[in-house]
Amino acid sequence: KFHFSPQIANWDLQREKWLQKYPHKRLTPQGRPQTILVTSSPSGPCEYPTGDYFLLKSIKNKIDYCRLHTVEIYYNMAVMEMGGFWVKLPIVRRLMLQHPEAEWIWWMDSDAVFTDMDFEIPLDRYDGFNMVIPGWDDAVYKRREWTGLNAGIFLMRNCQWSLDFLDMWAALGEDYGDNKREMGEFVAKQLTGRGDFEIDDQAGLIWLLISRPELRSQVFLETSYCLHSYWVMVAPRFEEMLANFETGGERWPFITHFVGCKFCSGKYNSTPMETCDHEAKRAFNFADDQVLQPYGYKHASLSKHQVLPISHESIDPDEMVL
Ligand code: UDP
Ligand code: MN
Repeated sequence: KFHFSPQIANWDLQREKWLQKYPHKRLTPQGRPQTILVTSSPSGPCEYPTGDYFLLKSIKNKIDYCRLHTVEIYYNMAVMEMGGFWVKLPIVRRLMLQHPEAEWIWWMDSDAVFTDMDFEIPLDRYDGFNMVIPGWDDAVYKRREWTGLNAGIFLMRNCQWSLDFLDMWAALGEDYGDNKREMGEFVAKQLTGRGDFEIDDQAGLIWLLISRPELRSQVFLETSYCLHSYWVMVAPRFEEMLANFETGGERWPFITHFVGCKFCSGKYNSTPMETCDHEAKRAFNFADDQVLQPYGYKHASLSKHQVLPISHESIDPDEMVL
């Protein structure tokens, strides 16, 4: 059976010993558990002409969020033990082992952007859980839907359970070696709403949770806020959602994920590239307006990269939102 190297069996003990040696590294200066956000893009240049520009905006968005909330950030461009959409598994594991100070490793796809720069993940809610991922219990466990959860954004606690979990998850892709296609056909039969293309990390994760029910109690399927929201439902409505919030309505989504848009390759999109680019620009600018506000600027409109001054009044540090 596939497993990542080096094999480790007593990580909780090793990590605890390390933390006892460096107790001041346990929490951030704000008293929150240390978190490392990791995202990734291919090692070579994008084929699609605006792909690298998209990636630059996507990482700026994440740097801004992490700076405002004291989250560490790591940008990966390497292909380690697994490539393609599986690239996230080995890098999450490497970060756990190399950063015992980090309680949580937070994966975020490059095609996902923060759209609420204020929101903070309620980490205390997850005591007793080792994985947090956007998803719905019924959709995953009852209806076995491929889109019952979304593997584009998730957090894993730095512990032995997670290392073991990553091995089991990776094995679903790796044990079949060149037969990723065969495994893909198998999960296509087991899950609803999935084609029979080669096994992907999301189908693998759902299949793991279905076939090993004892793992479920450690996995928090989060629906109470938008750790992942589908861009098609969100991006055309930012102005409306902002106005709605300002008149006492609910807040707009935390993260907007451009599932089905392949910004870097420009290939195999489920939507025309022009629509993806247009809506992604709006999402970035919507978030960037929140970043620029304390500096006194905002975008001329969500579809323009130019900015305009908000006001020339003097600035009161107490009034700053971010
Ligand atoms: N990725 C990467 N290198 C690659 C392919 C993918 O780093 O060669 C990462 C990238 O962050 C990407 C994620 O894996 O966002 C998942 O792929 P994608 O977003 O295309 O899948 P989707 O969310 O559309 O299912
Ligand atoms: Mn994605």
